[in-house]
Amino acid sequence: MILPKSHRLTPEQVAEITAIAGEFGCKIQPIIGAVRTIYAIVGDERDELMINRLEGLDYVERIDRIQSPFKLMDRRSDLASHRIKIGGVTLGEELLVVAGQCTIDPKNPNFFYETAAAVKEAGAHVLRGGVWKPRTNPYSFQGDVKSLDILMEASRRTGLPVDAEVMEEEHIGVALAAGVNMLQVGARNALNYSLLRAIGKAVAERDTVVLLKRGLHMGPLNEFISAAEYIAAFGNPNILLCPRGTAPTLDGYRNHPDESITPLLKEKTWAPVVVDPSHSVGKASYVPACALAAVAYGADGLCIEAHVSPNQGIGDDPKQAVTPDVLKQIIGQARQLWTLRRTGGKGEKA
Ligand code: PEP
Ligand code: MN
Repeated sequence: MILPKSHRLTPEQVAEITAIAGEFGCKIQPIIGAVRTIYAIVGDERDELMINRLEGLDYVERIDRIQSPFKLMDRRSDLASHRIKIGGVTLGEELLVVAGQCTIDPKNPNFFYETAAAVKEAGAHVLRGGVWKPRTNPYSFQGDVKSLDILMEASRRTGLPVDAEVMEEEHIGVALAAGVNMLQVGARNALNYSLLRAIGKAVAERDTVVLLKRGLHMGPLNEFISAAEYIAAFGNPNILLCPRGTAPTLDGYRNHPDESITPLLKEKTWAPVVVDPSHSVGKASYVPACALAAVAYGADGLCIEAHVSPNQGIGDDPKQAVTPDVLKQIIGQARQLWTLRRTGGKGEKA
């Protein structure tokens, strides 16, 4: 990783480092951070001669050589100072709340408009709404692209940025062209490397944020963080890691709650952690406790399914969506806990 002395290199300087790296079979990938652009050396960056030549350039401050399977997402990376912003929140400075329906019902758009207004009123910063849906049963409702118009209309009405899951490469361009601000990678696609690469390429020059769910069958945490690295490697480091329950199911819950991995993730990566309690426990009545547990464990945000009338919803909403009242209560308590966590109980901001 090349750290320049200035905020960003000139095209001539980029051409020069690209030519040097090219001689050693490597490529240069700019990664645009909030403060400065850094230049990842993609390929085998161990050649001392290449490092010496790059380090000798008068516009290069230093070369960071992190021995890590995820050198961009690693806690020790220069990107650790990168701050992700969405919905008026700078991650790490305030608890981010993403909320809304699991699934937008294209036959009943008013439910979504009402939900959107209600989650905003409850304090959410980002509106979620499923357009394309990954369903275990191939005969269940699979989503409908018409719901994208409803999602964007709700965004216009509320002023909230929106989050939607993309399941296939074709969805990415459609969602971005419509103005979706946060692309969600679902648990079933968290190890779909071609989709991760396609998302990385598509968001490279944008301020789009990616919410990467933890795969149901992911093994060590490195596998989760490496999936984020696939996206970041193309230049956009705005990635939020989202534990959402894992296998095997804990009897009575939908999955095995995994908010407790938050501190472990934070030891390895600088990426903010936004926990999804809804899919984790899978039942509305258990969601508040799981959400608060996530904040206690150090989560930077929550992604919660909410609906104005859950039993009239579709997808997961009848089972696991909380009502706006409950959402408001969760947000209020989660904020108190967040402050408590940050101040050690002294009541003032750390
Ligand atoms: C969802 O957010 O509605 C969803 C399908 O999530 P997951 O990929 O975590 O199952
Ligand atoms: Mn859902």
